[in-house]
Amino acid sequence: MSLKILGFTALAALCATSALATPDVVMKGRLTGTAHQTYIDLPFQVPEGVTRITVSFRYTGREQKSTIDLGLDDPNGFRGWSGGNKSEFTLSATDATPSYLPGPIITGTWNLVMGVPNMRPDAISDYEADITFGHANDKVTVSAFTDKPLNDKPGWYRGDFHSHSAHSDGNCLSLAGQKVPCPAFLTLEAAKARGLDFVALSDHNSTSQYDSERELQPYFDTLLLIPAREITTFHGHANIFGTTEFVPFRLGTKALPDVKTLADIVHAKGALISVSHPTAPTGEACMGCGWDAPTDYSDIDAIEVVNGGSVFAQHGVEGPTDGIPFWQARLNEGHHLTAIGGSDNHDAPDTPDHRSPVGLPTTVIYAENLSQAALLDGMKKGRAFVDMGVGADRLLDLKATSEKKSAVMGETLAVRANSNVLVEVEVKADAGSRAELILNGQLQPQVLPVDAGHATVSFHVTPKGQGAHWVRVNIRDKDGKIEMISNPIYFKLIKK
Ligand SMILES: [Zn+2]
Ligand SMILES: [Zn+2]
Repeated sequence: MSLKILGFTALAALCATSALATPDVVMKGRLTGTAHQTYIDLPFQVPEGVTRITVSFRYTGREQKSTIDLGLDDPNGFRGWSGGNKSEFTLSATDATPSYLPGPIITGTWNLVMGVPNMRPDAISDYEADITFGHANDKVTVSAFTDKPLNDKPGWYRGDFHSHSAHSDGNCLSLAGQKVPCPAFLTLEAAKARGLDFVALSDHNSTSQYDSERELQPYFDTLLLIPAREITTFHGHANIFGTTEFVPFRLGTKALPDVKTLADIVHAKGALISVSHPTAPTGEACMGCGWDAPTDYSDIDAIEVVNGGSVFAQHGVEGPTDGIPFWQARLNEGHHLTAIGGSDNHDAPDTPDHRSPVGLPTTVIYAENLSQAALLDGMKKGRAFVDMGVGADRLLDLKATSEKKSAVMGETLAVRANSNVLVEVEVKADAGSRAELILNGQLQPQVLPVDAGHATVSFHVTPKGQGAHWVRVNIRDKDGKIEMISNPIYFKLIKK
């Protein structure tokens, strides 16, 4: 038994709910010397519909060497023991703070168990336990692995939205050189080595990665973990971001008749859905890999336009599995869909024959801070670009201006038909790069060289005619390969 008590501040990252959340149950009391070397149950009722229990505990009397250990029993028995190591912890069906077991949150009487290894005869110790209940459709604060931003500053944050580990089909070499399921820890190490700010472990259909991430996030406190899962069906794959709750994946069954139901379930949980590698071939080489599920794209938030497998393939990003034409066709239908990228890494440690290393490509998102809520908000807003490279300070941002009104990537600018719109492109790229402009899916003839370092180049466009109107930019390197892909600025044509 450890008698060491950590400070509350050091443990804040372990708490799953906002510190401001009002507890559902508060249990207070006083222990005296008679509690020495006893166990005391503090019963509380868990009502129906609760999917997460979060405990915050504090007590006085440490200066008298009073010590209170903690554990938890559900109506069937043991759910964990953290001794004096943790004053805050959380548990749900899919994940729990280390020391506690994930599993069903059973309705009925639970006991917070106090173990008292030491209480002097004349000592007095006041304790308070705050218990907060979570529910299936609570928003992001309860499904994040940390409720504090890892960085408070607004800015561009770089990450990988697609990776796999031992929790599905990620494999790597063991210490003895055997191919084994690859521990999630190594994906995070690879992301850290690549200089990423966030990473999504999107294992196929499983939810067991969430429990590992609950353990790993406090250690990786400069790398935000986004709860993710690749919903893998017979008719395509879709990554979901921002919930640790179970979401059904058996598309075509009663629980999940269609994509709309899937999207509705995801959105009700405050999470987002992105179609993965939509144009991958489907067949015996990769079963159900391409996306052919009937879909109303107004139900979808993002499209994975670049999958890591293609970055290093013979044809690069613009090979047979290029997701850009698929995405642009949806934009031309009038949908607003954020383009993201994902490595789809399945073998975390860097090796020479890597087909899709973690972080290649990177998605760079403008967010208010480095937290799950802010990043998902940034993804939804669409001020983001996909970067095929590894430069930590590369940048691609767009601003469109018409008659003194401006919009940035992801936003909609109202413009008069046939009016002149200025599109300014802010770029940090390698020497020899150039910018090309795509208007409503059509590559425009003008190509502009981009100075190395921090540069701004400008285009002029004249939106007119029927259909959806939008503009975006690719940056190509000196060899002509796509290096960065912007998201669009949308135009709404107005008369007058
Ligand atoms: Zn996939
Ligand atoms: Zn995948």
